[in-house]
Amino acid sequence: MLRTFKRGTHPPESKFTENLPLEDFDAPQILAISLSQHIGAPAKPIVKEGDLVKVGTKIGEANGFVSANVYSSVSGIVKGFKKLPNATGAKVMHVEIENDFKYDAVLLPAITEPTKENLYERIREAGIVGMGGATFPTHVKLSPSKPVDTLVINGAECEPYITCDYRLMLERGEEVLKGVGYLKTVLGVEKAFVGIENNKKKAIEYLKSIAPEGIEIVALKAKYPQGAEKQLIYSLTRRIVPTGALPMDVGVVVANVHTAYSVCRAVDKGEPCYMRAMTLSGDGIEKKGNYFVRNGISFEYIYNQVIGSVPVEKTRKVISGGPMMGFSVSNLLPVTTKGTSSLLFLTEKQVNVSKPTQCINCGRCVRGCPMNLNPSRIEPMVIESHTEKLKTMNPMSCIECGVCSYNCPAKRPLLSAIRLAKKIIKEGGEK
Ligand code: SF4
Ligand code: SF4
Repeated sequence: MLRTFKRGTHPPESKFTENLPLEDFDAPQILAISLSQHIGAPAKPIVKEGDLVKVGTKIGEANGFVSANVYSSVSGIVKGFKKLPNATGAKVMHVEIENDFKYDAVLLPAITEPTKENLYERIREAGIVGMGGATFPTHVKLSPSKPVDTLVINGAECEPYITCDYRLMLERGEEVLKGVGYLKTVLGVEKAFVGIENNKKKAIEYLKSIAPEGIEIVALKAKYPQGAEKQLIYSLTRRIVPTGALPMDVGVVVANVHTAYSVCRAVDKGEPCYMRAMTLSGDGIEKKGNYFVRNGISFEYIYNQVIGSVPVEKTRKVISGGPMMGFSVSNLLPVTTKGTSSLLFLTEKQVNVSKPTQCINCGRCVRGCPMNLNPSRIEPMVIESHTEKLKTMNPMSCIECGVCSYNCPAKRPLLSAIRLAKKIIKEGGEK
């Protein structure tokens, strides 16, 4: 029987790009590389206007332990600094670079004799972060303050539309597994699981055929949110991460398959993290596909390259990330970063535009919630701003997967209400 977790949902997969191999995406003349591509303090700029840079020149230095180095993705000249909105709308500092289209590179020396210490240092130096979209600096995850015995690798790719991890596993499987091996060495663990949803059978078969001892490829039921950290750990190890606890509290570290791939590139090729695999999809564009995209390319440039003959009016919503947990962007000014796993240009048919109506007490939001919450009861308490009652409903354990909103036939904005509930509790009663 396929391993899985309790509850969840199964939205239409819409994996239109699953059979399209990864291609290189051409970069524009001007790029803006964000100094804040990770969770934690923004990197400090270490270049100035007029400096010449190459592919792999460090342009931002990690500012503290929970931060990450930032590298140029092209060769050219630094034009200056600019504040631009990121995909969440927050304004962050970017380094503007004029591309000379030569792609001269300055890479780190390849590591030929890997040790726990030199691998850790390389992962930190290369600026690798959680490439599944969480963007937590990987070197921080690899320094757990509690003993761990298991590495869990997320190859679930449970969000609809996105297929870049699937293509990486199929086309770069050896590098993905080598990266898993390097992560195991740093953590000093014997066992790693790679969890992959069963709708990616070719990837499961291929990785099984090449996986070395100590890395187990596990087929998981195709169900959302199979790739959420707590659900994935439960599916693969049957360990339960309590509310407020971290995976390391149950002896586990979780990383994404793309993170493992980036680790391998940094170790074997000396390639810092300046490019990533991305899916471009949705019926608002003609040239859907999976691409290796350099950091710092504006969403507008990407859109213009892939729209083809589709009328602009067809695109109703642009989402950075997946449709369940990604961010709907209000303009195309943001640029690609280490965490941009996909850009979706969705049409009216592909987005929910209906207005919320009254709750009909159908219980679908409760039945689907993987964290066993009751969103239909939380929402009215948020409207009343009833802090004490909210505390008894445990909204802090919500993983913000969006299953409740997706399942609700009345289209209640349940996820937004639960986010607000968290804020109310954190701020001690203030809405
Ligand atoms: S309440 Fe939170 S965890 Fe539960 S379904 Fe809604 S978003 Fe997901
Ligand atoms: S799914 Fe929507 S309509 Fe049904 S109980 Fe939950 S909030 Fe009410």
